[in-house]
Amino acid sequence: MTAESVAPEPLWLVAANVVRWRRYGDGGQELRPGTKSYRGGAKVYVVDTYPGMGHEQVTTIGRSRTGRWITVDTGSRHLHTFRAKLAYAPAVLRRAGAVGVRLWSREEAAELAALLERLAAECRETHHGAPHPTPCLCHTCLTAAGPEGVTPA
Ligand SMILES: [Zn+2]
Repeated sequence: MTAESVAPEPLWLVAANVVRWRRYGDGGQELRPGTKSYRGGAKVYVVDTYPGMGHEQVTTIGRSRTGRWITVDTGSRHLHTFRAKLAYAPAVLRRAGAVGVRLWSREEAAELAALLERLAAECRETHHGAPHPTPCLCHTCLTAAGPEGVTPA
């Protein structure tokens, strides 16, 4: 019996999904699927943020495009539907431990999730400082909040 065979305690973390498409390039006029590390729609866990930088970047744990578990910093604007989630997967818990994740209560995780949801939406609007391409597939445009009221197919 090794230490690794003992199931680690589940942790409250902030889960989120990667946007299907993100704006990219000059003025955000190009569209790219997902992020460099993650496929669009991938589920990730946020284990740290950078409050001094307005939480624009967050540290995430998730499965990369190749299916391997990774710990990577990404723009919060590339994530959506932040929510408090009890994480059980040993791979997630091991990586969270390596990052030195703070122990959040369910309420703290939910509070951070609500804050990140709001900030991510703001960042999506302000990051490129230019109108969206037309047609646009970014998260804002693919959801009801889209500036042009684009409805998803
Ligand atoms: Zn858009």
